[in-house]
Amino acid sequence: MSITKKAYLHFPSEMTDKPFISDLIRDYQLTVNIFRAKVTPGEGGYLSIELSGDEPNLERGFKYLDGIDVEVHSGDVGLMWKEESCTHCTNCTTHCPTSALHVADRKTRRVSFNESKCVECLACLSHCPFGVCSSIF
Ligand code: SF4
Ligand code: SF4
Repeated sequence: MSITKKAYLHFPSEMTDKPFISDLIRDYQLTVNIFRAKVTPGEGGYLSIELSGDEPNLERGFKYLDGIDVEVHSGDVGLMWKEESCTHCTNCTTHCPTSALHVADRKTRRVSFNESKCVECLACLSHCPFGVCSSIF
């Protein structure tokens, strides 16, 4: 049975001329839909893609990406929140229009990120003093 997975790929300058997308198609028999792409030779690139294929081939394809210098973000949005770097200062929560970034526990005042609520407005990027939020694009 064919299944489909969305992923965001981030890769460094050394990978901009490597044919890893055609490898996924040829070696793992995956169908690749590219929704958004930004590739800058000498700097690196980002791809928003959807991969479809048999589950074992999909797993092997993702393992292949893990083994090369490609960072895979398999969430539904291109916003990345590095929880381990968050100081829970709550500054972003007052600027997030959908409460995707919110105080989950009023006692501990710890901030959480609910990816399904994020509309990728990117407001949190400029309101986090610690660079915890970043956009794949
Ligand atoms: S990108 Fe916008 S909606 Fe998403 S977490 Fe940041 S402020 Fe909230
Ligand atoms: S502004 Fe940055 S450090 Fe502060 S709670 Fe939000 S993500 Fe964490």
